[in-house]
Amino acid sequence: MKKHNFSAGPSILSPYTIKNTADGIMDLNNTGLSVMEISHRSKDFIAIMDETQNLFKELLDIPEGYSVLLLQGGASMQFCMIPYNLLQNKAAYLDTGAWSNKAIKEAKLFGEVDVVASSKDTTYSYIPRDYKVPADADYFHITTNNTIYGTEIKEDMDVPVNLVADMSSDIFSRPVDVSKYAMIYGGAQKNLAPAGVTFVIVKDEILGKVDRMIPTMLNYQTHIDQGSMFNTPPCVSIYAAMHTLRWYKEQGGVAGMYKKNLEKAAILYDEIDRNPVFVSGIGNEDDRSIMNVTFVMKDEYKDKEADFLAFATGKGMSGLKGHRSVGGFRASIYNAMPQSSVQALIDAMKEFEKNI
Ligand SMILES: *Cc1c(COP(=O)(O)O)cnc(C)c1O
Repeated sequence: MKKHNFSAGPSILSPYTIKNTADGIMDLNNTGLSVMEISHRSKDFIAIMDETQNLFKELLDIPEGYSVLLLQGGASMQFCMIPYNLLQNKAAYLDTGAWSNKAIKEAKLFGEVDVVASSKDTTYSYIPRDYKVPADADYFHITTNNTIYGTEIKEDMDVPVNLVADMSSDIFSRPVDVSKYAMIYGGAQKNLAPAGVTFVIVKDEILGKVDRMIPTMLNYQTHIDQGSMFNTPPCVSIYAAMHTLRWYKEQGGVAGMYKKNLEKAAILYDEIDRNPVFVSGIGNEDDRSIMNVTFVMKDEYKDKEADFLAFATGKGMSGLKGHRSVGGFRASIYNAMPQSSVQALIDAMKEFEKNI
């Protein structure tokens, strides 16, 4: 039986993505070849690359002057590529969690880093709002969705410098005004495809402004000039991404996904707030992620956490254990997660409450 997959990443993909990718792995477009074994320079693969990049542009309404790159190395490689390409003197970073922290660590290798605010004091249970972005920074880096802690920056902010956002775990979950960002990037394995491809949406004009030499593979300009085909791209992962994007389009695009995501998140948070056994990890409702819902058991039931995990596992649920740094539970309810699975979790929480 198919499980209710609440894993934080790699995570649930739609049956549409899995089925169509599997078909192309067996036989791509009746070519008699698998998508795993064709040349990335072949007409069939070039069509896959083109369609994937075009669907990014269409679904996110990406303005002229931006490039969509499909690279490798994960979001983690971007933590170093961004300062390599953009940090001349100083960069500003908002510290909202472990991923922000890793990005900050890499940036420090390239120049001065101004951490404008941090919520580390409460294990990242909120999004700091009281800070100023220095106007002389080369860019300001944010992590819009904090996958581990369950907080999310849900508005596109106005800042006086280039805004760079790690959207690994909330890309395509809500409408985004791309024109407010100089760069948006992320690993694929949360809302797009199996691990292997990393998307980068970059405003072309921000590049070429640093003095240092940049190795060819780490230079965004290389990949822009070569249409993301400088070297062999992660073909299968891109093929899967194309199917996910086709499915998003069929589902009403980003607006359609957003509507469903809001409903899923609302019913789950309502149950966490209602159920006397559980409590949300995130006090400020405005900061609660619609992708990763974190919760723990109230102090008086703390010793029952393992019991609930076992109970939910018995009901076909997978991946609910919270990150080791926060404990408790984390239900990742990405785009591909059907409301019926969220409802199954809610039912399990109610049943557990009754029997406690
Ligand atoms: C998962 C995740 C990452 C790490 O992505 P990799 O592709 O494994 O490098 C970075 N940032 C955020 C917000 C994530 O959720």
